[in-house]
Amino acid sequence: MLFSSIPGLRETKEKLVTAIRNNHLAHALLFHGPEGSANLTMALALATYVNCQNPTDEDACGACDSCLKMAKLIHPDVGYTFPVPGVLISDDETKKSVDILSPWRTFVLNQPYGNLPDWNYHNGFEGKQVSISKNAARQIIKTLSLKSFEGGYKIMLIWFPEFMHVSAANAILKILEEPPERTLFLMVSNQPDKLLTTILSRTQKVLVRAFRDEEIKEHLIKTGISTSEAASQIAPLADGSMREAYQLADQVEDENTGKFRDWMRICFTLEINAMLAMSEEFASSDKEAQKALFLTGLNVLRESLLKRSQLDNLMRTSPSDSAFIESFSLKVLTEEKIIRLYDALNTAYYHLERNASAKIIFTDLSLSAARVLRNKNL
Ligand SMILES: [Zn+2]
Repeated sequence: MLFSSIPGLRETKEKLVTAIRNNHLAHALLFHGPEGSANLTMALALATYVNCQNPTDEDACGACDSCLKMAKLIHPDVGYTFPVPGVLISDDETKKSVDILSPWRTFVLNQPYGNLPDWNYHNGFEGKQVSISKNAARQIIKTLSLKSFEGGYKIMLIWFPEFMHVSAANAILKILEEPPERTLFLMVSNQPDKLLTTILSRTQKVLVRAFRDEEIKEHLIKTGISTSEAASQIAPLADGSMREAYQLADQVEDENTGKFRDWMRICFTLEINAMLAMSEEFASSDKEAQKALFLTGLNVLRESLLKRSQLDNLMRTSPSDSAFIESFSLKVLTEEKIIRLYDALNTAYYHLERNASAKIIFTDLSLSAARVLRNKNL
């Protein structure tokens, strides 16, 4: 994670980089911000920066050995502690502990703005009490007492320290007060007021404010998650939370998948009246919405091809869409049909961009789709 991969928040990034360059960085930092803020990503960007071999005045290089390891969250000098159900952490050290770091990496890389319920859902922990146990605290002390593998900073990132058991918090007080040299504690919290004052008083606070609408909008467009039209609608609704923005973007996408599904169904059953009514509706929507529907269609076809090729691991379908994709790709489509529909949609998109009549494009496309879908020889 680099500073540049976090949208906006220029003032926070500058403050951190200046502190590092002037050697004023405290050894224990508390990144606190509302849910959906960049508190975790900011801590990870800082961890990347301090160990980068070629940092600039603004960011880590992203290319050195240390940066590459950080990008995969496999840097040997960076440890992670986060809430898990008590049963997972056994006090008996002879018992092999469950590998919880791999799911942590997948989670953070896929949902860097996720919250604790997201984490619990990711692991099937719902309904279980999660915490950071005394045993986890012992692990923290043990890890930090080892020498740095690569000569840089030893870093311990604690996600949701407010879930630290009192005994765990007490266990790390001493090392928090007098950490070994070149050791950094990065705590990432939504509710710092729930932390013990003994912990709070030993950390320097870094407020990571909620995102501004403009930052969310720009990010959604730049990353191709939403069209500019959709991003303008989503940004104010997300209320500063990137997590919320992603969810809203998913819903908009799901709505389009539903529309595309209905459209394909009426083409397949050749319901002419419904096809014409849908063409009317389509022509009256704005251009961004028309383009978005085509892009959704192209995406459904791509996913269908992956499904038919049994490359499920490459698919990006949301759980709500996967039932449709599965039956559409396996029961209705063939490879040949997918290719023909893909070409037809691509051509229609091209004409739409060049301002041809949306009504004609859509009617034409509906008829071509019907011909392809109903052809038993393809
Ligand atoms: Zn680097």
